[in-house]
Amino acid sequence: AQREGGARIRLFDTLMLQRTRRRTDLENDLRRAIGTPELHVVYQPVVRLADGAVEAVEALVRWQHPLHGALSPVEFIGIAEDAGLIGALGQVVLATACREFAQWRQRYPERGPRLLAVNLSRGQLPEPTLVTGIEDILRDTGMPAGALQLEVTESLAAQDEAVQMRLHELKRLGLTLALDDFGTGYSSLASLYQLPVDLLKIDRSFVSQLETSAHHRVLVEATIKVAKSLNFRTVAEGIETVGQAEILRAMDCDKGQGYLFARPLQTDAFEAWLQQRQPS
Ligand code: C2E
Ligand code: CA
Ligand code: CA
Ligand code: CA
Repeated sequence: AQREGGARIRLFDTLMLQRTRRRTDLENDLRRAIGTPELHVVYQPVVRLADGAVEAVEALVRWQHPLHGALSPVEFIGIAEDAGLIGALGQVVLATACREFAQWRQRYPERGPRLLAVNLSRGQLPEPTLVTGIEDILRDTGMPAGALQLEVTESLAAQDEAVQMRLHELKRLGLTLALDDFGTGYSSLASLYQLPVDLLKIDRSFVSQLETSAHHRVLVEATIKVAKSLNFRTVAEGIETVGQAEILRAMDCDKGQGYLFARPLQTDAFEAWLQQRQPS
């Protein structure tokens, strides 16, 4: 038993060491990858549930690692934050997305998305250069502030006063703010009116249960009602079935996003998707 335990400890140590190594390696790789095509942006449309019109497009970062293949932002955003790289990463994503969005506005003035949504993570909000950095990018890319929607997670926004002041500062630029992953955090619906937010994104974990759980239906319907009475628009994320879309439409949810409409798409695939929706 002794020997077995020892072996187990050695195995554990080895695994820990491997994980730490992988993390340090990834950190160095990420530092190098920012600004190269390894890091790129994909786009997922957001449609109006009433008639399917394209309302917005969400920019989602992707990392095609030369060794490890496609890595999820869930894994490397955290690494970027710990390594102090999140500011640089965020700037590259925003600048890229604004540049590509500007082209779509020219090419598809009628049918193209009206809003560009970009995610802000926990580590980005305290950065002293956040607001001026965004202003610079808007100016350089000719992106109107009114067409930009920044998404922060609910747990982050509810957090503290400094964060709320930051959100007010961002709002003053003239952009739209969305509360992402709504329903997963701890902010009560009642505390929402204090936040300078325009839109709630109902988390996928609620949407995915709409057809099977009366409990989730009640929660989502109540959320949409309160949101409306407080003048927030509502978006449901992660819609995968026609049934989910129909339930949400009946509840008067404004917009929807999910694999049912489109997966996150590479730039050219997104353009093809837009074109194919143009009425002839
Ligand atoms: P999020 O902001 O909640 O983005 C939605 C996530 O759900 C995306 O995952 C998207 O690909 C996925 N998704 C969309 N529709 C469906 C669906 O119908 N079914 C399922 N199963 N999934 C769906 P992704 O791209 O892996 O991003 C994960 C998270 O990483 C994002 O969650 C966001 O918090 C963060 N993230 C992504 N891109 C960026 C970025 O550029 N900057 C920052 N700071 N965070 C980012
Ligand atoms: Ca988001
Ligand atoms: Ca979300
Ligand atoms: Ca989510």
